[in-house]
Amino acid sequence: MKLPDKFVLVLFVLIAFGHLVSAADHSTLACVGARIYPSPTTPPINNGVLIVNDGKIVEVTAQDRLKLELPQSAIKLDCAGKVVVAGFWNSHVHFENGWDHAATAPATALQAHMQEMLTSWGFTTAWDLGSDPGNTIALRKRVDSGDVPGPKIFMAGDIFPKNGHPVYLPPELQLPEAATPQQAEQMARGYLQMGLDGIKLFTGAFMGSMKPVINLDTAIVKAAVDVAHAQGKPVFAHPQNRTGVDNALAGGVNILAHTIPSEKGFSQDELAKMKQQHTALIPTLTLWTTVVDDPAIASQLVQAGVDELKSYFSRGGTILFGTDVGFTSKYDTAQEYEFMGRAMGWKDVLASLTTNPSAYFKAPTKGGIKKGMDADFVVLDGDPAQDVRNLAKVKYTVRGGKVIYQK
Ligand SMILES: [Zn+2]
Repeated sequence: MKLPDKFVLVLFVLIAFGHLVSAADHSTLACVGARIYPSPTTPPINNGVLIVNDGKIVEVTAQDRLKLELPQSAIKLDCAGKVVVAGFWNSHVHFENGWDHAATAPATALQAHMQEMLTSWGFTTAWDLGSDPGNTIALRKRVDSGDVPGPKIFMAGDIFPKNGHPVYLPPELQLPEAATPQQAEQMARGYLQMGLDGIKLFTGAFMGSMKPVINLDTAIVKAAVDVAHAQGKPVFAHPQNRTGVDNALAGGVNILAHTIPSEKGFSQDELAKMKQQHTALIPTLTLWTTVVDDPAIASQLVQAGVDELKSYFSRGGTILFGTDVGFTSKYDTAQEYEFMGRAMGWKDVLASLTTNPSAYFKAPTKGGIKKGMDADFVVLDGDPAQDVRNLAKVKYTVRGGKVIYQK
């Protein structure tokens, strides 16, 4: 008996998509006609098709090589002429300013703020490097339940030096300060017990331009790092000055959460040690435009940060994208891309948003567009190969096969 062609096709689709394909199935999402960059190092697929089912990528190919027919019920994104890249990581955010009462606030208000701060810029994963943990855990629960469309949220718990309450944080905030290694160890244990994913150490706290920076001693850094590393968790540092960098590196911190533009350059020893220890660097260059009023000084700080980024990147150091949004309200990422583009190529900027963090934070199902990976991707209105700032022109943000932002 010869099977009708249509039957063969349906059978093929059923095999390809497993049990989830049916006439009423709305979990299939398709993006047809875009230029797809599967990763920063692979050539683009022009006129490509990306098909998602049940939160995973099930097909990525050129349209003329597609062997299966889309189910009628598939949700089709308007992708013709657009550019598709993997979902972005912002490895330095704070669910702090404007995120109060996350457990009880209306979902629509949280969704609006989430769009403004993260999802409209393509972020499908974010590292919160310090906020009220109870509040952010509540927010994370609402995101995970689907109540508030948002990125996957990782959280790091803050530890400050004794008497190191940074001048820019509200004085009434009760900050966790560690005076001894034992206290740091206890705090780190407490955070990880709460379900946090890492630790953030203020190895340098800014006390105002007329006062010295307060640094965290290396022994205290090491005590917190040992607790985190024993549980396979990363440690971030806010360094502020050279001593803050050196103590972070001596104590085995994984990620420097900022450049240090006031020091005008990492030393050769620091760069060598960072490379050897596989330390990652988050540049936060746009932040330097917000810390002083004088635009001339601001642009000097930015340039110093760009130079530091370049010095580590050119040695082969790992760069992770991060902006400190939620502390700052400069949510637009275009300027950060422009600044980073002074030190590295657009593919390297894309890597800092995708493949670098997924490798660094051991999330092998994220960071690329490949069959079997999480359906976290961004549809752009412009090609970053033409202008790196096009990474900020987001049309859709899709996380786990769900559209979490649409322009
Ligand atoms: Zn920060």
